[in-house]
Amino acid sequence: MMHGNRSEIGGNPDRTTVLVVDDEPHTLAAVAHLLRRRYRVLGAPLAERALELLASEPVSVVLCDQRLPDMPGDRLIAEIRERYPETVRLMMTAYWDHAALAYAVNHGRIFGYLRKPWNDEELEQAVESAVAFGALALENRRITDALQASNERLSRVNAELRHFTHAVAHDLKEPLRTILAYSQFLEEDLGPLVSGDSSHYLAGIGRCAGHLRRLIDDLLQVSELEHLPLAMEPVPLDEVLRQVAGLLEATINDRGGRLVVEDGLPRVQGDFGRLVLLFQNLVANGLKFNRSDVPTVSVSAAEAETGRVLVRVQDNGIGIPVEFQEKIFNLFQRLHNKTEYPGTGAGLAIVRKIIDAHQGGVRVESEPGAGAAFMVDLPVAEPVVD
Ligand code: ADP
Repeated sequence: MMHGNRSEIGGNPDRTTVLVVDDEPHTLAAVAHLLRRRYRVLGAPLAERALELLASEPVSVVLCDQRLPDMPGDRLIAEIRERYPETVRLMMTAYWDHAALAYAVNHGRIFGYLRKPWNDEELEQAVESAVAFGALALENRRITDALQASNERLSRVNAELRHFTHAVAHDLKEPLRTILAYSQFLEEDLGPLVSGDSSHYLAGIGRCAGHLRRLIDDLLQVSELEHLPLAMEPVPLDEVLRQVAGLLEATINDRGGRLVVEDGLPRVQGDFGRLVLLFQNLVANGLKFNRSDVPTVSVSAAEAETGRVLVRVQDNGIGIPVEFQEKIFNLFQRLHNKTEYPGTGAGLAIVRKIIDAHQGGVRVESEPGAGAAFMVDLPVAEPVVD
């Protein structure tokens, strides 16, 4: 029962709060009686009082009559939605006031409505569903907020890391250029004078500095790949492979190798320049890690599931043991000494980054000694809309 200025009309104070807004004391009392076993029930005879209560404490569900002395219920509900969107709203009307109901639905996004005189079971049911809905919405909101916060944190950390890598790589390049130049000057100036170990040391400095420069260049390329946006368009794969053949012509000739491209490769949705870089790395690897008399790389494609193209880059090279087929995609991860096969170990990291940016996938099929096949999954080209 309401006492003077107090609005609490019953129920367990630790429980979910339900606010009933109605100016008829007997309605408030009857609803409170019905709900107080399960909820903490507050009552307000006026819209103004309801807003005061909502401002002072969290309310899970509001049950609002349409006829109030100081404001129509539908307007109050719209106001509550605006100020306290997490409070679930239920409406009560003594008659079918369609305009009010439409307003409460459109502007107040009510969860449900009840007709007066109500049926006890129906009212209990409506409040129970509204409470459950409110709890779910709150939980959903909490999870979404937490996810958004951790996404923002992750993007920030990623951006910092990218910036850091870029800055470090740039700063290392300058002194390295000096080391390279000076070791070259020393070799030129003292060349005939130094002999034995000293000449060996000097050559070693030049060689290592050169390798370091390649590592840094690759690091810069990887970090740049991440922050330059993709220019997505329908890309004919045969055109990509023609470019790759041109870029690798000298390597293919030096090795006495072959690049065999299947006719009629499909079009994929992607960034032309990046796709050239991707297949250039795969084809170059197929020719490099290869001891066959005629190192051969074959490129073919098939439509995989709907909307996807599976490109196969097969070589007749040394193959890759199963336990390394995942690791080789890590930056600077190599399985061989660079005197055996030159390189920095960035090629496949670049391949993976490009594929990720295309929402694609890559996997390896290989047995040592029996060649390797890199299977690249890419989206099929989208139809061109005029
Ligand atoms: P790099 O070519 O500079 O060594 P990659 O990142 O392109 O670096 O490759 C990483 C490692 O994966 C290579 O060092 C090699 O051991 C292995 N690898 C890559 N492609 C092949 C291939 N086609 N056949 C056999 N091994 C390969």
